[in-house]
Parts: sequence; C-alpha cells; structure tokens
Amino acid sequence: MRYVSTRGQSAPIGFLDAVLAGLAPDGGLYVPSEWPSFRSSEIAAFAGKSYAEVAAAVVGKFVGDDIPKEDLAQMCEEAYATFAHTAVVPLKQLGPNQFLLELFHGPTLAFKDVAMQLLGRLYDYVLERQSRKMTIICATSGDTGGAAVEAFRGRKNARIVALFPEGRISAVQRRFMTTATDANVACISVLGSFDDCQAIVKQAFQDDQFRHGVDLSGVNSINWARIAAQSVYYFTAAVALGAPAREVAFVVPTGNFGDAYAAFVAKKLGLPIHSITAATNSNDILARAFETGRYTRGAVAATQSPAMDIQVASNFERLYFEAVRRDAVETERAFRAFADTGLLDIPPAAHAWMRELFRGASVSEADTAKTMLSTLNETGEIVDPHTAVGLAAARGVDAKPSVPVVVLSTAHPAKFPEAVEAAIGVPPVTPRATPDLSKKPEKFERLPADGAAVKAFVRTFAATT
Ligand SMILES: *Cc1c(COP(=O)(O)O)cnc(C)c1O
Repeated sequence: MRYVSTRGQSAPIGFLDAVLAGLAPDGGLYVPSEWPSFRSSEIAAFAGKSYAEVAAAVVGKFVGDDIPKEDLAQMCEEAYATFAHTAVVPLKQLGPNQFLLELFHGPTLAFKDVAMQLLGRLYDYVLERQSRKMTIICATSGDTGGAAVEAFRGRKNARIVALFPEGRISAVQRRFMTTATDANVACISVLGSFDDCQAIVKQAFQDDQFRHGVDLSGVNSINWARIAAQSVYYFTAAVALGAPAREVAFVVPTGNFGDAYAAFVAKKLGLPIHSITAATNSNDILARAFETGRYTRGAVAATQSPAMDIQVASNFERLYFEAVRRDAVETERAFRAFADTGLLDIPPAAHAWMRELFRGASVSEADTAKTMLSTLNETGEIVDPHTAVGLAAARGVDAKPSVPVVVLSTAHPAKFPEAVEAAIGVPPVTPRATPDLSKKPEKFERLPADGAAVKAFVRTFAATT
C-alpha cells in the first residue's frame, strides 16, 4: 500500500512513513494511491466481532505489509482495552430510526481517544524498531491535546508538545493536558485562536532545519493512521444496524473534517453509506462549502462547542482531491490560492460530486442549547454541546424511513459541564472511572502566537528530555 500527496510533488511512500511524516513535503496530504475495499461478505462477517477485531481488519487494509497482522491485532486489543465500556463505542437508540454512537468512553472522554490510543502504540512500535526518538507536536482545539498527551505520556521513544488557544478550551479539557507529570510532556497556552496554533505547527513543519533538528512528527487530524482508525466505528455501527444489506446515514459534528472524511473512507472501503451530514456550529465554513460550493475562510467565533471552532478544515483538501478526479495540479493550485486569498470556488462538477454524498448544516448557539434540553426531556439522555450540534443537524436529514440515522456523540457531557448545566439546569456527572484532575497542579508555558517563540521553546524541550 503506497501513499501519494494531494499536491503531486512528493514521492509515494509506505504506510508507516506516511504516518510519521504527517504533512507531505510539498504541503499536501497523503492519501492511498488506490482505494482498498472489502467484499460485501467480508463486511457482513464483522457482525458479532469485537471492536478490536474489526479495527485490525479495517486499519489492516491501509497498513498493507508494513506491520505483521498479529502485531497490529495486539496493538488494537491493547488500545481498546483502555475504554471504560465493553462495547468500546456503544450504539444507543434515541428514536424510532435515530441512534447515537457514543465515541467518548476512552480515557479523556472524547472521540479523539479512539484514534490516539492506537496511534501512541503504533509510534512506540515503529520508533523502537528504528531506534529513533521523535518530537510530536500537536495543535488542539481542546480534545486532541488531552487524547495525545494521554496516549504518549511516559512513552520511551516520543516526546509530546501540545499547543492550545488560551481561554478557548474548557478547564476540563485543559487539565487533561496540563496535569500530566511525565517528563516527556510539554503544554503551551498560545495567546491566539486554534487556527493560529495550527498555523504555527504548519510553519514548524515547513522549516526543514527545525523539523530535522527535533525529529518532528504530527498527530493532528491529517495523520493517516487517525483517519484509518476513525473509519472503523462507521463499520461497527452500520453492521449493527443491518449493513451491508441496509444503508445508513451518518451525521458528524465537524471541525477539521477528520471524522467526516473518515466516513467517506469507510464508504470507499465498501460500506453502504446513504449520506454524510457535516454538522457545524456557527463556524460554518464546511456547511457553506457543501451547501453553496464556496469554501471561504471566516473569522473564528468562540462557541459552546469549542472543539469545532475552526474555519480552515485541513482534511477538506483530501475530499477536494477526489472531487477533481485526483488532479494534483488543480488541487495544488486551489489550496495555494486559498492560503493567499481565503477563497476557493469549488468547480461545479466537483461540487455536484460532493453533493451526491455530503450535506452541510450549521447550528446556532441557541439551537444547540435548546437541543440539549429537548434531548433530555424526550429521551432522558444528557448530551454534550458537540453532540447537540449533530442532533440538531439530524432534523434536516432526508433519508427514507428504512435508512437509520446515526449521530456521532463525540464527547461526554462531563467534559463541558458549564455549557451543559447552562442548557439543562443540572451539572453532568463525571464517569466513575475518570480520575479527578481538578485538584492536581497544572504545568504549562504561556507564549505569544509566534512561530519563532514556539520553536525556541520546543528546541530546548527536545534537547533536555
Ligand atoms: C475534534 C472534535 C470534533 C471535530 O472533529 P473533526 O475531526 O475535527 O471534524 C467534534 N467534537 C468533539 C468533541 C471533538 O473533540
């Protein structure tokens, strides 16, 4: 299995190299050179298998010969044993044809754990064999940082630096990062937005001297192993609801378009997905792109669902590449222009192709809060604000009654206690298995939104740990 860049200027590489590289040297994103797929009978055979077994089969399609099957199976077993629910990602029925896919039973209570627990193990496995120590840098809108710190802390062959936007993430989210005491963890509170954090990380990767100096690697949502790991739960959910004989519609709360793109990947692998609704909060660049054909950057507004306060959805470039029939020259032109102007007009044929599968819906702050309350009143379930965005968007899904609608529940309500209590009047209860971090001391560095300052800090950190 080889991986090519969406911008066509970088040489094709194998799975493990693509995982460690993150962004391609030409600024593009790696995608498989050809899509693997399952036969219908193979998908049917997932019924009754454990989550870890399905994960090994699905992720295995993308790993190719880079890791022996037994080793990958072992890593999947260990990764998903860290989840507090024996189903790993349980499916809960909310209405006659509506389901919630609970992705938040991992150690940091958000869906990022699903991919990150596997990624931490993959890195350890590879770096041990290469006798190499890498510096992982990660910009977080809130949940990725905690999941990455939890997955990488204490690991021998990697150190982790998490950048988060000061004041834009919840205290619970911050503490999942800043209370880690392991020497290989550093946290930076950046005086700026998540897009600033992401821009600093991008810039660090483009600085060859810095990249090689600290042996830089990224685990942001563009990392192919994360995408592959996230495509797994679309299979387990759809098969539980009757796939491959039956189509399923998914509604995905979206920020960086990693999770929703993983649904597309599942479809490419052969899963019969009826539609994918990208549900955004008022930071609605993706909803607008799918609905109008214009991908235009706006200003970032702070919302109750901060993990989606993003106006540049990194993984969108991967979908665009497919939509223009894998024309790397066109993709490079479009995203270079977008970086300069903040504007991309999707060619009509490409937009029409996207619309065959994707819909966009943006949900206001008031509607998000109302949906938390109505969900509690109608079903007894307390949901977090990101999930509420998905539930509100699900009202617009125009599937036949025979098509079940699955809304991804991306975080536990206890991760956003203030927003949840404001909406429903009672505070959500933290699951028993989660340690109380509110009294542990926090450790982080406060830095301006300036690439040079961050690089200087990371250089010193890498030299001393
Ligand atoms: C990261 C995150 C999202 C958005 O996922 P993307 O892959 O960036 O689109 C949604 N909800 C929660 C709780 C998250 O942590």
